[in-house]
Formats: sequence, structure tokens, C-alpha cells
Amino acid sequence: MKIDTKCVQSGYNPSNGEPRVLPIVQSTTYSYDSAETMGKLFDLEEDGFFYTRLANPTLDSVEKKIADLEGGVGAMLTSSGQAASTFSVTNIAKAGDHIVCSSAVYGGTFNLFNKTLRDLGIDFTFIKPDSTEEEISVAFKDNTKACFIEAVTNPSLDVSDIELFAKVAHSHGVPLIVDNTFATPINLRPFEWGADIVVHSTSKYMDGHAVALGGVVVDSGNFDWNNGKFPMLTQPDETYHGVVYTDHFGKCAYIAKARVHLMRDFGSQAAPMNAFLLNLGLETLALRMERHCANAQKVAEFLEKSEKVEWVNYPGLKSSKYYDLAKKMMPNGTCGVISFGVKGGREEASKFMEALSLAKIVTHVADARTCVLHPASTTHRQMTDTQLKDCGVEPNMIRLSVGIENSDDIIQDIEQALKSL
Ligand SMILES: *Cc1c(COP(=O)(O)O)cnc(C)c1O
Repeated sequence: MKIDTKCVQSGYNPSNGEPRVLPIVQSTTYSYDSAETMGKLFDLEEDGFFYTRLANPTLDSVEKKIADLEGGVGAMLTSSGQAASTFSVTNIAKAGDHIVCSSAVYGGTFNLFNKTLRDLGIDFTFIKPDSTEEEISVAFKDNTKACFIEAVTNPSLDVSDIELFAKVAHSHGVPLIVDNTFATPINLRPFEWGADIVVHSTSKYMDGHAVALGGVVVDSGNFDWNNGKFPMLTQPDETYHGVVYTDHFGKCAYIAKARVHLMRDFGSQAAPMNAFLLNLGLETLALRMERHCANAQKVAEFLEKSEKVEWVNYPGLKSSKYYDLAKKMMPNGTCGVISFGVKGGREEASKFMEALSLAKIVTHVADARTCVLHPASTTHRQMTDTQLKDCGVEPNMIRLSVGIENSDDIIQDIEQALKSL
């Protein structure tokens, strides 16, 4: 099936007399006729639903759909994108370990890694998203367990060279984890460029309507964990009577452990209702991404021509330093998010935003409705100026998330707001 067909059809295939629409299984628990059968489920000897913290039929279908969209062997939904990022790393790194991470990552990811996980004993080295092969390579240490990047970064819209990061990570014997939230599998499938694990905040384009928080971790099944660096996957887990994940689950070792270990212990399970809503969003993801990208391209070109605008950053513009890389990895477009600076700085940025009428000021990004945000005073407000610059955020940066309305109306709204400056 083509990817737009997968959006609609994958993950759920009813048999005779079953509901055509994915049912919401609003149940924490599942009944069995013997304690022994149940015991086998607990010991991972048999497959089946027994408690929604570990698996639920509604979630299962949506996980299968997303794994199919990304071209992976398995996926795990989480209650938020933050939980997905946390699990993607803590599944293979513990206190004393080290992760190489791009400095251009979502503000929440940066806080999680730089503060919270650091406090728990996992060390991080942050490197520029456009680092050279040498610059990436020197960041690795003996105790490095993964490299984490964002494909198209929020909010700075850097485009990471996945092929290059994957090559360097693999040469150091560790997997590449890619946050693919902004591009979505419609525009970019990181596994095709060598990534091993993908995470998403499904709260953004995948849901697409800003109705449900969620995240997902997807496993390519391609990484060979048997190189001595990942005992948590290749040595017996006593909490499951000595199961060895790589032996028992083969190519699905990473994603199986994330579920039966991390989800069992930390929780953060997605709610069945939210998985249902996410699935509705996924059904139209291909259609929406096409419109988001077409609209954003027009808006970016309009902004670039305006004399009230100091700079525009959109990978679909020829002026972007990422134009060629974006065209190579994402020939159909990147995403609907543009960042730009109005002339004059912080104050003019606020004035412009307040003069908008169709586009609302919200924290959210990447949904059907056009919206704007000033990162320096909101999502990134806890950062110092140097940290801001390191992750590509200028003080006058406006993040414009172009929706799927008619582009004429979006441009008209922007035009009248620029005139008020
Ligand atoms: C929003 C976002 C996250 C965090 O996801 P939540 O669903 O808000 O927890 C992670 N990465 C990126 C790129 C995001 O845009």
C-alpha cells in the first residue's frame, strides 16, 4: 500500500460482523478463564492483553498503523511526546551513561535531557545540528549509548542530515534516535536514511486538530544490539524470570523492552480515547500535510518579499541553507511551520502577533488552524540568551504554524498585521 492508503487502512482490519470503525476499548482489564493463562502472560510466555498499562486493543491498532507508516517493526504509544522522548533514551541508557544530542531540539526535550535526566545521572553532550562528521564524532565517549536529533527542528527549522548522524552513531556502535514530529512519515521516513529509532509528539500533525496529547516510539528493528554495549537488552532481566530481550523478541527487542519494562514501571500509557482521536487524525495526515506544505511555501515566499520582515527561515525557500538537504530528504515538502523575524525586534514581534486575527497566539503548533508563538517569551523562556542562540532561537523569532485554511486568507491576515507595524 502507498503511504496515503496506509494512513486510512493500516492497523485495523475487522472480520465478519466487527465494527468498521476502530472501537474504543475503554477497559483497564481483560478476563481469562484460568490463572495459569494469566500467569503465562505475566511471564511473557504468551501474547495477549491483560492490563491496559501494558497493552490495549485500541492502542495496539494505532501503534501498528504508525509502525507501518514509518516502516518499523513495532511502536509504542505514550501519554505525551515528552514521555516518548524519555523512554527512547532511558530504554538503553542509565546512570553513568552518556548521550550525544543535537542542541537544536524542542525546548521540552532540552530541559528533560539537560536537567532532569542529567540529575538522574545520564550525561549529555550537545552539538550543533549542522555539525561536520568530525564535530559529531568527537562528542562520542566510551559510555555513549545513543545519538538523539530532531529531523526538522522545532522551532528553529534546522534540517538534520540523518544519513550523516546515522553513519557516525553507527561507527561508535550506538543507535540514532530521531524526533520526526515536524516532518511526519508522510514527508520523511528517517529509517530510510539510517535512523534506528523514531519518536513523535503525536500531539502535533499526527493528531492534527489539537485535541489530544500523545507520543510514540517506533523501532526500525535494524539495530544490532549484540555489540556488548547494551546489557539491558542482551543480559537476563530478573524481573521477568531472566528473559533476554534480544533472544526472546529478536528484531523487536528494543520496543518490546520499552513496553514490558519501562511502561510497566513508569506508566505514561496513552488513553484509549486519545488513541482513537489520534487515529482519526492519522486518517487524513497525508492530505493535510500536502496542504500544510503548499500553504507554508506560499506564506514563506510572501514574507520573504515584505519589507517589514528582517529574515525568513523555511527549508522550502531557496535562501535557506537547508534547501538542498531538505529537497533531497523531503522532496514533497518539510512541514507547515515557518520562523521569521520582523524588523525591530522583540516589541514589534509582539505587536505583529497581537494584530493578527485569523492566526491565534497559542502554545501549540502543527494543527489545522494557523497559529503563532514567540518562543523567547514562552516555550524557551527559561533559557539564557546563549542557550537560545545555540538552539537557533533569535529573540525576535516568530514561529508561524501555517494551517490548512485557504492560503489567500492566511496571507491577507499576515499582510494586514504587518501593515500595522
Ligand atoms: C511538542 C513536541 C514534543 C513534546 O511533545 P508533547 O506531546 O507536548 O509532550 C517533542 N518534540 C517535538 C519536536 C515537539 O514539537
